[in-house]
Amino acid sequence: MIHLHDKTFEPFISSGEIDFAIANMAKQMDDDFFDDVPVFVGVLNGAFMVMGDLMKKYRGMCEVSFVKMASYEGTQTTNEVKQLIGLNQDLTGRTVVIVEDIVDTGNTVEELKAIFKEKNVKHLKIATLFFKPEAYKKDIKLDYVGIRIPNKFIVGYGLDYDGLGRNLPDVYQLAQ
Ligand code: 5GP
Repeated sequence: MIHLHDKTFEPFISSGEIDFAIANMAKQMDDDFFDDVPVFVGVLNGAFMVMGDLMKKYRGMCEVSFVKMASYEGTQTTNEVKQLIGLNQDLTGRTVVIVEDIVDTGNTVEELKAIFKEKNVKHLKIATLFFKPEAYKKDIKLDYVGIRIPNKFIVGYGLDYDGLGRNLPDVYQLAQ
């Protein structure tokens, strides 16, 4: 058990299981991109750990980049606008793999896809280490999924609870 702020979390997924899932993702990607030089784009903050481990296992030639989704109020106060920061590279004609830590409702993936569509990429692929199928509301295909999990709140391995827990090598779930 671990305690973060006011909540208690119990062990859920070990670093060994995560390692195995990431190795499988890397293998699939190596098979898919053997004749290509993809650009892997990690979505901060959560994806920093999965990107590090995934990139160490990916054997092919590739580029590595990070972005962050920032939201700010639009001109109408009710209007929240999402902006992608950190992407200053020309992606025209490139294979881009968005790397996420977790896909829950799919809202973030949908927003990212819309933004990347405007960049004239050749192929846009989505990879996520964790996926909550019960919470997913979109039709967007997830190309690489590490571990499917029930609709529970998790922390560790890049994922936080109110800023804490990102550095934990294993994943914990909220205890009842
Ligand atoms: P979406 O609902 O757009 O797919 O996910 C939005 C974001 O919510 C994710 O990128 C992640 O930051 C956060 N999130 C979703 N589920 C969890 C979870 O179980 N634990 C943590 N720490 N964050 C989550």
